[in-house]
Amino acid sequence: MKIQMTNFGGAVKKTRDYEFAILGIPFDEKSSFLKGAAKGPQAIREASTEEAINAWTESGIDLEKETLITDLGDINVSGSLEEIFSRIEKRVRGILEKGAVPIILGGDHSVSYPSVRAFSQKYKNLDILHFDAHPDLYEELYGDRYSHACPFARIIEEGLTENLVQVGVRAATGQQREMAKKYRVRMIEMKDIKEKIVLDFSNPLYISFDIDSLDPAFAPGVSHHEPGGLSTRQVINMIHSLKAQVVGLDIVEVNPDRDSSGITASAAVKIIMEILGQTVLLKRTDRKVES
Ligand code: MN
Ligand code: MN
Repeated sequence: MKIQMTNFGGAVKKTRDYEFAILGIPFDEKSSFLKGAAKGPQAIREASTEEAINAWTESGIDLEKETLITDLGDINVSGSLEEIFSRIEKRVRGILEKGAVPIILGGDHSVSYPSVRAFSQKYKNLDILHFDAHPDLYEELYGDRYSHACPFARIIEEGLTENLVQVGVRAATGQQREMAKKYRVRMIEMKDIKEKIVLDFSNPLYISFDIDSLDPAFAPGVSHHEPGGLSTRQVINMIHSLKAQVVGLDIVEVNPDRDSSGITASAAVKIIMEILGQTVLLKRTDRKVES
């Protein structure tokens, strides 16, 4: 099957000289409940067509004129888990070596672990902003340490991040709260969000966006429905007030099997585009951080 490339209203070009590179990871073998997230990259690409949307962000950035974005297609996800994870790490490292910002389309959340490994090699001090209904801090789930419920346990145990901030959590278990306390993870839970959240990071920032951080009313196309989440508007406002040098992004867990209207894939496209716009704006204000 021919892969349709991401478009973002005409902003994505075929070029070797890019600042942002999209990489699909059609992998859902580590999903604990329903499969389907492997079809996420294709659904996001289809929702990004210029026939449906234009290339401008709400913040006034014309992504077509002001950035160079390319789509590198999908990673081959055949073989053993070890082979797949090392391939992910290698491909992400390749983008970083070019000085570009990787934008990873999942796939289930297990792919963030090998991706962050690549970043931690380049950035000694890496901050992570993790949007999710779930902390994904299980030591293991059903005997599997690499389940999509575990990537951030692996990331903090290996010291791959300096500072992990989680937003949108509403399904934390007692064990995961203990894990968060032990490793000084800042968990901003839904029950505590009363007003606007403004986040400021001093180290290079990796954003890991599990689309189930959104309320299922806004994003029903996810494997684990967890009501009481963020609105798409809240997330966009948070992006517009974010202060950081964004060096990478993954957006995971879009499950087209449960996304009959396509609204979840569209939310993913919108969030990626607003993060791109904010990254361009912040670059202008010269918030460069040493890598
Ligand atoms: Mn997750
Ligand atoms: Mn989740």
